[in-house]
Parts: sequence; C-alpha cells; structure tokens
Amino acid sequence: MIASWTTVSLAGTNSRCQSASLTEPPSHRVELSAPRMGTTFTVILYGPQPDDARRAAQEALDHVETLNAILSDYDPESELMAFRGRAGDGAWVELSQPLFECLSRSRELAERTGGAFDPTAAPVIRLWRRARRTGERPREDLLRDARERVDWRALELDPGRRAGRLTRERVGVDLGGIAKGYAADAAHRLLVERGYPCCLVAASGDLRLGDPPPGQNGWIVALETLEPMTTPSAIVADSAPPPPTLSLSRCGISTSGDAEQFVVIDGVRYSHIIDPRTGEPLTTRMSVTVIAPDATTSDSWATALAVLGPEKGLALLRPEDRLDVRFAILDDQNRLRITTTPGFGDR
Ligand code: ADP
Ligand code: MG
Repeated sequence: MIASWTTVSLAGTNSRCQSASLTEPPSHRVELSAPRMGTTFTVILYGPQPDDARRAAQEALDHVETLNAILSDYDPESELMAFRGRAGDGAWVELSQPLFECLSRSRELAERTGGAFDPTAAPVIRLWRRARRTGERPREDLLRDARERVDWRALELDPGRRAGRLTRERVGVDLGGIAKGYAADAAHRLLVERGYPCCLVAASGDLRLGDPPPGQNGWIVALETLEPMTTPSAIVADSAPPPPTLSLSRCGISTSGDAEQFVVIDGVRYSHIIDPRTGEPLTTRMSVTVIAPDATTSDSWATALAVLGPEKGLALLRPEDRLDVRFAILDDQNRLRITTTPGFGDR
C-alpha cells in the first residue's frame, strides 16, 4: 500500500546492454507495471528478445492477479474469505497451495513472535482501517470485542492434507502483512521458470530480487528516509545520516513503517501496523527494513519487527534465519535512531 517506501534505481538503466561475451546475445531491459493488491507491482527483467520478455513480465503480473483473488480480504469472493466464513464449524477445509503456504508461514511467525505478528488480527485491523477513513478512534466496546476474537492458536493447519480450520467462531484472517511478499516471490519464480533469472519484482515496500542485471554486481536499492517530504521538520536534518544505498541480488527486501498509511487522532499518529496483543496501532515513528532469503520472509518479519521494536525483535533472530535488519526510529525528541544487525552494513 505504501507508494514508494523502498525505492529502486538501477545502476545499468540503459535499455540495451551489450554482454561482454561474444557468444551471448545482447540483453534487453523490459519494465512493466500494473496496479495489483492495492498497490503498484513492477517487474523488471533482462532477456535476449524484448517481445518474449514483455510477455513473460505480463504473465508474472497476471499471476499476481490470480494470487490476489485467493489471498485478498477486500474481495468477498476470495478463497481466504470463504475459509474465514467457515470459522468455528470444526471442519477441515482443503486449501490451495498459495493460501496454505501464506497461512502456515504466518502461523509459524505468530508462534515465533508470541503473537506480535498475527494472521488472525483481522477484526482489530478492520476497525482501525475504518478509523483511518473516519479520523475517529474505534468505540471501546467494539475494540474489546475485536481484541477478544484475535487468536492465532485457533488457526489449525494440516500439511499432510494441505487443509486448515478455524477452531473458534468469529475468528478472522488477514494476510496483509505477508501477501505482497509472497506474490513477489511467486512472480519471481515464474520468471525464472520462463528463463529470466535476471529480474526484479517490486510491490511498493516489498522487493524480490533475482540475479543482478547483466554486467552489474547487484540491483541498486535506495532506502527512503523515514519521513516523507510533507513534514520535513520532524527530522533533525543535519543529524540524520543519508539513507543507505544497497547493492543486492537473490533475496527479498521489505520496509514496513507508517510513512504513508497512518491517521492522526487527537494529536496521536496511528500506524496501519497493529500490536495484536493490545489491539492498538503502533504510534512510534519508525521504519524497519529486512533483507531475507525471500520476500515472503522479509515482508512478514518487517511487520513483526515493527511491532516488537529493536530490543525484543533482534533478540529473537537466529543465525539460520539469515536476516539483516535496519530500524530507523524517531525518538520522543525527534532524533533519528538507527539500529542494525551487524551484517546490514556489509550489504
Ligand atoms: P504494507 O502492506 O504497507 O507494506 P506491512 O507489510 O507492514 O505494510 O503490512 C501491513 C498490513 O498487515 C496491514 O495493513 C494489515 O493488513 C496487516 N497487519 C497489521 N498489523 C499486523 C500484525 N501485527 N500482524 C499481522 N498482520 C498485520
Ligand atoms: Mg509486511
């Protein structure tokens, strides 16, 4: 949903890149964008035939549309909403591969983070989504009721049957914290299968990067500053280091924060990321960037780490997660605090 949290610019933006080797055909750069999942998805790829490459890019964007029809909680006809409709009836429901994968990755992360990331936070998310439209806090009785319905343990999954069930009535499911990263990974996988490993899929704050562009070491990814242009005074400009530029490939990178999606009520700035354990949105000005082996992981961890904050969040990470993380937090004196994992700078 965020317009340009993590911006991407390419070192080699020339449309026709001559390969070093004489035996290799020249590589053409193709870029295609379309509105998908409430944001803009962009595919960039390199290939010998521009028309074929363009067709592959279109196919990748079409695939994202297919996934949206499965994973969306805005579309009442989606498979996700049908699954939600079965909450409490006790029966196992056979699920498509994408829905099953998103649910099981979400549930694992909920367990790992003690519910800081919670795919069943839907009732609370919905109330705050309305609050962002109306500019009014949700009613306390509605909030209390919504909070009581949040319970990731009520989501049970059976990988053998690729089935799931919601064991409590009125439990909701929202995959907004993971679906875009999952879709970016799926689009990337399709492009690799079609013979385009040099590719990038961007879904606003979530990127999946394939092999680097021809002749380059990586894709150049520039992280935006914490604060968008509208309120520059919130940052102490001369103490803020310039946002880092990274050269990356074969990974996912996501940024979660409240730069674009927020509401101010009675002087408090509420993020669209919610702490499911309290039912309250985050109010700390922050942006969390996660680099991970894939975008499903970077997307969901970025949301989880935003809820947990640097101390609790970084303490949870294990070497085998292969995550690098950067927190940019505005403290109560409007000073920018940067906390990173040791490996982040090496990127
Ligand atoms: P964006 O979608 O703007 O890139 P995120 O990836 O952080 O940002 O996802 C935010 C979305 O995730 C929210 O709009 C909501 O649908 C959902 N969400 C919010 N808080 C949580 C949470 N604690 N756990 C899981 N999902 C959440
Ligand atoms: Mg996310």
